[in-house]
Amino acid sequence: MHYRELVDLLNLYSKKYYTEDNPLVSDAEYDRLYNELVRMETEDPSIIKPDSPTQRVGDRPVSELESVTHEVRMLSLSNVYNEDELRHFINTCLKEAERELDFVVEPKIDGLAVVLSYEDGRLVRAATRGDGEVGEDVTHNAKTVLSLPMSIEYKEKLTVRGEIYMPVKAFERLNRSQAEKGLKLFANPRNCAAGSLRQLDSRIAATRGLDIFVYGVDMGGSKFHHDDLEFLRNLGFPVNPLIKRCVGFDEVWERVEHIGGVRTSLEYDIDGAVIKVDSKEAQDILGVTIKAPKWATAYKYPSQEATTTLLDVDFQVGRTGTITPVAKLEPVFLAGSTISNATLHNYDEVERLGLLIGDRVVIRKGGDVIPKVVMAVTDVRKGDERAIVYPTICPVCSTELVKDEEDVSARCPNIDCPARVKLSILHFASRKAMDIQGFGEALVELLADGGHIHDVADIYETDLDFLKERDGFGEKSVENIKTAINESKKKPFDRVLFGIGLKHVGERTAQVLAEHFGNVEGLMSASVEELVTINDVGEETAKAIFDAFRSERVISLVQRLKNAGLNFEYEKKETASDVLGGKKFLITGTLSRGRDHFEQLIKDNGGAVATSVSKKLDYLIVGENAGSKLEKAQTLGVTILTEEQFMEMLNV
Ligand code: NAD
Repeated sequence: MHYRELVDLLNLYSKKYYTEDNPLVSDAEYDRLYNELVRMETEDPSIIKPDSPTQRVGDRPVSELESVTHEVRMLSLSNVYNEDELRHFINTCLKEAERELDFVVEPKIDGLAVVLSYEDGRLVRAATRGDGEVGEDVTHNAKTVLSLPMSIEYKEKLTVRGEIYMPVKAFERLNRSQAEKGLKLFANPRNCAAGSLRQLDSRIAATRGLDIFVYGVDMGGSKFHHDDLEFLRNLGFPVNPLIKRCVGFDEVWERVEHIGGVRTSLEYDIDGAVIKVDSKEAQDILGVTIKAPKWATAYKYPSQEATTTLLDVDFQVGRTGTITPVAKLEPVFLAGSTISNATLHNYDEVERLGLLIGDRVVIRKGGDVIPKVVMAVTDVRKGDERAIVYPTICPVCSTELVKDEEDVSARCPNIDCPARVKLSILHFASRKAMDIQGFGEALVELLADGGHIHDVADIYETDLDFLKERDGFGEKSVENIKTAINESKKKPFDRVLFGIGLKHVGERTAQVLAEHFGNVEGLMSASVEELVTINDVGEETAKAIFDAFRSERVISLVQRLKNAGLNFEYEKKETASDVLGGKKFLITGTLSRGRDHFEQLIKDNGGAVATSVSKKLDYLIVGENAGSKLEKAQTLGVTILTEEQFMEMLNV
C-alpha cells in the first residue's frame, strides 16, 4: 500500500475508533498497519505528513460534550512487542539518564484515559484524553463510577490520571441486553466503556458498572512514581494491586510475564504492561516525543481479539440431541493459536448477533479456551452476505428436528441418532462420571460405527477381545481397557447417575439426588412433587427425571447396569475428620492436582467450599497463576494458604 493510502486508511480507522467507539477492524489489524507506517517513516522521514497518525495522540473529539483544554498535554505510549525490544528500551533509559534506575511495572488497563481535577478536596472535573490537548468533559459520568472518590483529604489542587474501564462481566451483560433491545453491539469492553463514558445523559453510564484504576498524579515535590501511587492509594483511589517496583531487567521481565500469565483471570481487560522509570528526575531528563513519554513504554500482549470472515455455520448434534450452531471462520491467528471454529451456543445467540454468512466478525478469546463471536461488523457489509439457513432435519440421522417456542435451539428427537449415542457413551466414560481410561473418542467411534455397542450398558456386556486382532490395539491395551471397565463398577451411585446423563441432571444434582434417595428405587418411584422439594431441583428438572423413569428404555438400562454390578446404592461417606471445623475455603490458580480433589478433601475434613471471595471466606488456597481472586482476598484480609500449608492443616 502507498504511504498516502495507508495514512488515509489509518485515519479512517482512528476516527471510527476514537470518536465513534465503533471500530472497523481489530486492534491487531490496526497495529499491523500502524507499524508498517512507522517502518516507512523511519526509512524515509521526509515523507512524513502532518496528518499521519504517528504525529498525534488519538483524535480530536467531535461529540456534543463540552471541550476541555488540558493544562498538561496527555500523551500516548510507545510499544514494544518482545523481550529484546523491552531490553532495548531499558538499556536506552539507563544510557540516556546516565544513572542507576528502578522501574515500575503496571498492567495496561484497556479502557479510556481520564484526567481528574480535584480542588479543595472535591472532584471538580473529569475529562477524556481526546487528542491530548483537547478532551471532553465527562464529569457527570465519572461521578457514576462508584470506586472513584468524590472528595479526598487533600485540599491543594490535584490532577490525577487514570483509566476508566468496563469489567468483562458488565460488558457481556450489556451486550446481551443491547441485543434483546435490538440495539447495536459493542466490539469489546474498551469501546463499551468509551461509549458509556461519552454519553450526555449520566443515567446511562450509571447503569453500566464502570470502574477505574488511577496510575498517575501531577504534583510537585515527589521524587518517585511509586511514591505517587502510594499517595493516591492512601487518599482512597483504586490503584491496581499488580503494580510492582522492579530492579533490573530480570525483575521487570518477570513481572511483565506474571501479569501476562494472570491476564485472562482478571475481571477487566488489559492489553499490555506499562513499564515506567521510577525516578521523576530521570523522567525529566529522558523527556517526551511528539506523542509519548520516553521514560515509559507499553509491552503489548498478544491481542485477545481478531476480525475474520464467517465462512459458514455448521450444526452439530449434542448428547441430548440439542443442535449447536458452530461458526466456521476464515483461519485467523489469535493469542497463540489459529482459530477456525467458534461456538455460537444456540439459535437465540445467532439471532442476537444478527449474523450473515460472509460477514466480517469480531472474535474474542477470554478466560475460556473456546473463542466467542462477539459481533458482526455490519458497516463493512458488501451486500452479498447470505442468511443462515437452519436445518429442518438432523445433519447426522436425518430425523426431523423439533423446536418448541421456548427452546433456544432445535433438537434431534431420535434417541438412536449415532451422534447422540456416541456422545452419551463418551459422557458416561468421562473422567467426571465413570472415568473409564482408554474409552475415548476413537474407540467409541469404532465400537459404535461397527455396531458393537449401542448404549452405555453395552460397555459391560460386550466382549472386547476381538479388538486384540485390530490394528492399533495390542493384547495389553485391550486388557487395560477391560480392567478400567471393571474398575468403573466401583464408582459411587452419584457418578453412575450423572453418567447415565438424564436431562438436566448434572454432577451436583446427581449427588444431591443420590444422597436424598439413598438408592435408585427411591428415585425412580419419586413423584414430581417430591422431587421439587429437594434443594437444587427445579420444576423442569423434576419433570425430566420423572419422565425419564417412566421410559421403558431408561428402566431397562438401569436394570442392565445393575446386573453388570454397578452401584445403585448411596454409601454415605464418613467424614474423614473434622479438623477444618466448618471453615470456608476457596481455591484459585493451579494446584498440583485437580480442584475436585482438593474440594473433596475440604468437604471430607469438615470444611465448606465457598463460591466467591467475600469477607465471609476464611481461607483462600492459592496455586500457580492466581489472579483477581487473590487480589480481592488480600484486600479483604482473607488468610492465604499455599497447597502445602493447606495439607499441613489436614496433618497429611
Ligand atoms: P494506547 O491506548 O495503546 O496507550 C496509551 C494509553 O494507555 C494511555 O492513554 C492510557 O489511557 C492507557 N493506560 C492504561 N493503563 C496505563 C498505565 N498503567 N499507565 C499509563 N497509561 C495507561 O495508545 P493510544 O494511542 O490511545 O491507542 C492506540 C491503541 O488503540 C492501539 O492498541 C490500537 O490498536 C488502538 N486503536 C485501534 C483502532 C481500531 O480501529 N481498532 C484504531 C485506533 C487505535
